[in-house]
Amino acid sequence: MPEGPTIKLLAEETQLFVGKKVIKASALTNDLDLARFKGQKIKSIKSFGKQLLISFDDFAVRIHLMLFGYYAINDTFPAGKLRLGLHFKEGEINFYAADVRFLEEPITDLYDWRIDVLDSVFDKKLAVKKLKTLDNELICDALLDQSIFAGVGNIIKNEMLFKACVHPLSKAVDIPDEKKRELAREAVIVSIDFLDWKRSGVKKNRFIAHYKKICPRDEVPFKKLKVGRGKRVCYFCELCQVKY
Ligand SMILES: [Zn+2]
Repeated sequence: MPEGPTIKLLAEETQLFVGKKVIKASALTNDLDLARFKGQKIKSIKSFGKQLLISFDDFAVRIHLMLFGYYAINDTFPAGKLRLGLHFKEGEINFYAADVRFLEEPITDLYDWRIDVLDSVFDKKLAVKKLKTLDNELICDALLDQSIFAGVGNIIKNEMLFKACVHPLSKAVDIPDEKKRELAREAVIVSIDFLDWKRSGVKKNRFIAHYKKICPRDEVPFKKLKVGRGKRVCYFCELCQVKY
């Protein structure tokens, strides 16, 4: 699933369409009222966590690439999974296999960017405060909670836990406050690093734990287990990641 940095980059790459008028909208399903787009100018394109928000005068659309979604800017893929294509006098954006919904209220009323780890207003203290309220939650689930760390996906989660030396099966509530603060800092650091690699077109990942076989601290094999509610794959070291 695309994580926050992928969507942030998508928002950056599509800024050229802000202020442009939609001359045609297309889709292969008929559940969206495509006529709404015609003649509308894009007011803003923003990312929020794993979602892309395209605003017009009276409404917005929320695009979530889900597990297998993809997009093309000024290009097309075979149309089989086209969920929304917006065509302009010059250029087009096409979203495939994505979840696309209309939003009728202003996005500033619907979204709180203080929980978006890649936004300049991300509030680490708020994230720590929310972690303290989780009674029985494992940290591997809490870090994927989009109402605490919007934009963090499985890869970023694994890197955060490894860098902060926290075992994925720790109970969030039992983790010392200093470690909670460290996790909140790492949410930002790991996400920004990930975004920078994507911006510079680095193909090979530079992760420390995710997809890796050996712990660089202890030189022992990483454990690779499906953990938490979503049974997401976790790479971790049982020697240096402390279970609280
Ligand atoms: Zn280790």
